[in-house]
Amino acid sequence: MLDLFIIGGGVNGTGIARDAVGRGYAVGLAEMDDLASGTSSRSTKLVHGGLRYLEHYEFRLVREALMEREVLWSNAPHIIWPLRFVLPHHKGLRPAWLLRLGLFLYDHLGGRKLLPATQALDLTRDGTGAPLKGDFRKGFEYSDCWVDDARLVVLNARDAADRGAGIATRTRVTGAERAGDHWRVTLADTLTGETREIETRLLINAAGPWVDRVVRGMNGADAGHHVRLVQGSHIVVPRMFDHDRCYIFQNADGRIIFAIPYEDDFTLIGTTDRDYRGDPADVAISDEETDYLCAAASEYFKKPVRRDEIAWSYSGVRPLYDDGATSAQEATREYVLKVDGSADAPKIIHVFGGKITTSRRLAEHVLEHVETVLGKRGAPWTRKAPLPGGDFPVDGFEALVAGLVADYPRLDRARLRRLARHYGTRTRRILGSARTEGDLGRDFGAGLTGAEVHYLIDQEWARSAADIVWRRTKLGLRMTATQIAALDGYMRNAMQERLPTAAQ
Ligand code: FAD
Repeated sequence: MLDLFIIGGGVNGTGIARDAVGRGYAVGLAEMDDLASGTSSRSTKLVHGGLRYLEHYEFRLVREALMEREVLWSNAPHIIWPLRFVLPHHKGLRPAWLLRLGLFLYDHLGGRKLLPATQALDLTRDGTGAPLKGDFRKGFEYSDCWVDDARLVVLNARDAADRGAGIATRTRVTGAERAGDHWRVTLADTLTGETREIETRLLINAAGPWVDRVVRGMNGADAGHHVRLVQGSHIVVPRMFDHDRCYIFQNADGRIIFAIPYEDDFTLIGTTDRDYRGDPADVAISDEETDYLCAAASEYFKKPVRRDEIAWSYSGVRPLYDDGATSAQEATREYVLKVDGSADAPKIIHVFGGKITTSRRLAEHVLEHVETVLGKRGAPWTRKAPLPGGDFPVDGFEALVAGLVADYPRLDRARLRRLARHYGTRTRRILGSARTEGDLGRDFGAGLTGAEVHYLIDQEWARSAADIVWRRTKLGLRMTATQIAALDGYMRNAMQERLPTAAQ
């Protein structure tokens, strides 16, 4: 009998699992596909307060999110780091005084101790003006952070599992029913089709865009309809500029888009906002969105962004709480928790909305409800607890890389740096006693080796090539279709060889 069982291995589900198991509850989690295969790998990847939300008076949310920036950065400095954002002043759009006021609030609403403050920019002199059209002469620069969203999810899951939580991927929750004082939950292995049942005192529905759908398979639970699905898409193009700052562009329709340095050689441009009515699993960028993003970025860059340059694109669905807002971009980004179940019936907590940025705080709020149902165990603890591989100072990344270079002098430096970005201090678990490149096993292309692949299978629930090349890493941007297919075949064999061992 578990204390709580979580449906969904996105940033919210894994964050709740981590917090709960660390307080001493018996925790299980099921993810129907791969960890972060839903919305949590398809975000703009910013740990940010959300400058735009100030216009919608979402002060509570913005303040909480701003305060989380430095907390998350210190918990995982390998996958989260500061970014400076350049906001060009566009003469036809928001006046400069309004931008200045917004940024003043942004600087002072909460928690900024290490991140540098806003400053005005003369784009005719500052290097960030060079790739922009000549009309953009003034601008502002402010701070937020970057996050590797999918890795944040996996690290939450890894830490939860290290502390004793059961994490099952490729496992779909197909039904749940109340049985006296607890839930009986049916799980189906999506690879073998086998089903099994587990029992839990409390259920948490963190199924993201599927949150309403999951409830339909539950006997007696009724969450009503609360989720508003809002699609957002991104395009990735070859690098548009050669500095490490990012742009936030205002569009004539009142929205904003970002152009962000991405994976060294690329620029990430997004996002869009439009209501979505299909199956969240089928979401894909539309021609209209592609044209919109190319046009919006080309309004600012001297060199237009062309559709035929797009190297990759991705699309996701925001599982927003449906507050009845008229337009998709105005729908609240706040999270809402709904507890369902009478005093003597087992309860289910439904999670709506939220951001990558606020996921740790969301988990703490869920835990307040958990405590009222199951009784208090431990105190909140995640604020000062490093995620796996993140146990080094926020300014210690270069020292971490230097240490790896010193200890593994015959390995490629660029590889060591990439591994340090992904795995932080756990990089040494991958490299082990390797001395030469050849000691790292098979070369799958783009720097991916057998040692890393086996670590990802053993420690990070990787089961297919896509798990590795699009979520644990972004090496898919550099690998050929043939290399990815070869990796997939290799992994399938490796998994099959493991099955008998696992059963013993
Ligand atoms: P998900 O990540 O979708 O996780 C839910 C999981 O549940 C899925 O993996 C799914 O497979 C699983 N599941 C569903 N049904 C079942 C079932 N029956 N059994 C088992 N598992 C099931 N936030 C930020 O902080 N910063 C940003 O820059 C940012 N940009 C964004 C840009 C876009 C375009 C979008 C779409 C979102 C953005 N967000 C951003 C918001 C953020 O990505 C989401 O709020 C967050 O990822 C939601 O996480 P989740 O865990 O609720 O959902």
